[in-house]
Amino acid sequence: MSDHNKPLQLSRRDFLRVFGGLAAGGVAASILIPQPRFPRVLPPGAILPAESFRAACNGCGKCVAVCPHNALRQNMFAAPYLDGLSGWCDLCMICVHACPTGALVLPAEPLKTKLALAVIDRNQCIAWVATGCRFCYEKCVTLQNAITIDEDYRPYVDEQLCNGCGACVNVCPRPDKVTRDLRTGKAVALKAIPHDR
Ligand code: SF4
Ligand code: SF4
Ligand code: SF4
Repeated sequence: MSDHNKPLQLSRRDFLRVFGGLAAGGVAASILIPQPRFPRVLPPGAILPAESFRAACNGCGKCVAVCPHNALRQNMFAAPYLDGLSGWCDLCMICVHACPTGALVLPAEPLKTKLALAVIDRNQCIAWVATGCRFCYEKCVTLQNAITIDEDYRPYVDEQLCNGCGACVNVCPRPDKVTRDLRTGKAVALKAIPHDR
């Protein structure tokens, strides 16, 4: 389990009792901390060895164009990726079938594909720094049921259950924007995971 998703021992009530007046200062400071950025998450079906995928993908963008959920985007080198900001992936594999070069390959068990891991940034998450948000939890309940909430309604991601679909990122109400000094971001992001290639 990554440090980002580890449960804490203290409840919010305990935390406030212990740290009292420091809480407000902590929240103010956290606004200045940029969201961790992770390497790009590749589309479903990118199961070739990384070098082979890069050699096979010609950046045509057909996978991006056919996705019914607008889940895929292209980077500045035209390489497709998934980040949950524009949409999320339901593993329909339409993009795989649309790929004309063989860069994307149909996995043996498409619905068991693990794309990435969702990681919650507790410095940005509304439920962690204040209270009142559980959009990601309510969305994931209908999908992988990978997010649990504690008695103070703070979310945790189960790394075994999460398939990296990006739906939690998509519904997270924190804005994703780049300011002059730093990049703030959604409170949950997709982290690429090593694949058995
Ligand atoms: S599997 Fe379907 S939903 Fe997921 S990126 Fe491909 S086309 Fe989009
Ligand atoms: S936590 Fe749930 S909604 Fe978020 S990426 Fe994982 S499976 Fe998808
Ligand atoms: S939707 Fe975003 S802000 Fe709301 S609880 Fe989930 S990660 Fe936190």
